[in-house]
Parts: sequence; C-alpha cells; structure tokens
Amino acid sequence: MQPIIDIHIHMMPYSMLKPPILDLIKRYCQDWAEVERIIGDSKAFLGLLDQLGIERAGLINYVAPEIIGFTPEVNEWIVNYCKVAPDRFLAFGGVLPGTVPDPGAEVDRLAKLGIRALKMHPSHQLLSPNDYRNGNRGLAAIYERAQANGLPLMIHTGTSIFPGARNLHAQPLLCDDLGVDYPDLVVILAHGGRPLWMEEAFFLVRRHKNMYIDISGIPPQKLMEYFPRIEMIADKVLWGTDWPGPGAPDIKRNIEMFLALPINHQTKRKILYDNAARLFPR
Ligand SMILES: [Zn+2]
Repeated sequence: MQPIIDIHIHMMPYSMLKPPILDLIKRYCQDWAEVERIIGDSKAFLGLLDQLGIERAGLINYVAPEIIGFTPEVNEWIVNYCKVAPDRFLAFGGVLPGTVPDPGAEVDRLAKLGIRALKMHPSHQLLSPNDYRNGNRGLAAIYERAQANGLPLMIHTGTSIFPGARNLHAQPLLCDDLGVDYPDLVVILAHGGRPLWMEEAFFLVRRHKNMYIDISGIPPQKLMEYFPRIEMIADKVLWGTDWPGPGAPDIKRNIEMFLALPINHQTKRKILYDNAARLFPR
C-alpha cells in the first residue's frame, strides 16, 4: 500500500479558540462529537492514521492571539502531544512578533524543544509575510533563525472565512520576497493559494528552489482545475487534508478521490509521500 504523509492536520488546543471561531468550525463539521473524541485521545488519533495508511502527520499550530486565541503556549502543547508517537507526529509550532520578547531566540528554543516546522497564518495574524521589508525586525529574525535551524516554514495562502480574518495578507505573491532574501529557507505555501491565487503559487514554486505548496483544503475534484500543470511541479507538492477543517470532512474519501485523478503514478507517489519524506527526514 502507498504510504502517506499528511502534512496538514489541525491538531491544536481547541479550548484556546475564541467562541465565534469554534462555532464556525463546529457548523462546518459533519460530526463534531466524533472529531472531538479523536482530538482528545491521541491513541484514537493514531488508530485513525493506521486505518488510513497514514505513516506520519504534520500537526499544525500557530500563534494568533487577537483573531483566533492561540498564544505562544501552543508550542509546549503540541510538543507534549507529539511525545506519544515522535516517529509519527511532526510538530508544527509558531512564533509571532510582539508575543515574545525575542522572536529569533524563540525559534532557536522551539527547534531544541522538538518543533519540526513553523506555521504562519498571515490573515489570522494580521501580518504580511514580507513585512520585514517594512522594518519588521522580529519577522526577519524568525526567518533567519528558521533558515539557520533548518526548520521549514509553512505559510497559509488563500482565503479564510474565519471571523476577523484579513485576506489581503494571504496572497502567495507576498511570499516572493522570502524566496529572494532567504533562499535556503524551505517555504510551504499551504493550500496553494486556493481558491483565488493558484497561478501565483504555481509561479513561485517554479521560481524558487525551496518553495513548495501543499494541496490541503483543496477538494480533490477541484485539483486539476486549480493546478492543470501539477505534473510539472511534481517534486514541489505535498499531500495534506486540513482535517478537521471545512475543506476536509473525510480524510479517506479525499485520498480515494486523489488516487482516482488523471495524474501519473509517479507524481502521485511524490505528492503523497516522497516530497514530505525528503523535507522531514527521520
Ligand atoms: Zn490549515
């Protein structure tokens, strides 16, 4: 069976969420009680991954106190969570300028703590990814230290309907500067800019040697419409679902629909496993 790495699963401290955000997630979720049960029980979650043939999962966390409610404590939370199965779980953490005294030192600390990658969510953090060009020294320090520590950086691109999200920050092209100024930093453009800016994302991954997309949150039936030339970037695309987000009600069905798409076998294998395995060596 084809092994899978799902690089984008939202295993987060849901108790930190602001009530309107949690309400929206529940409204889109078909069976929140079941999702809540799995989230609260790491053994049940591992069981689900086993059942689906998912070898490893990127567990996404980020800091966005104002809009979402996530404080820097998400980092300790996810590192602790991942201790149950360090060979299966990849802890994604976050650093946001203004929430810690020294953002660069915080990246160094997280790398030692066991965080494997960083996540930024510009539309929930009210911050453009290239704000360091306007003098945001904290953001520059985060990128410098992530690059030096070999921590990949995932950046949300594409729309968000969460109350308070400011979508102007979520355009992939705002990440072009990172490819220029931090060429050795691995940048994963989450969601490939869907549903508005796929061409920008496609351009960037072709332009910059360390820029990737993940296809999480994209309904598989839309993938070929969104990325008709996906085979040209076969080495730069990562599988992810965004579970339990609005675009990923059913992980199994997403995998089945992806496998049925008219994409060559080798490209599918690279997307489902090889590319992420290369970025996250054991
Ligand atoms: Zn996500």
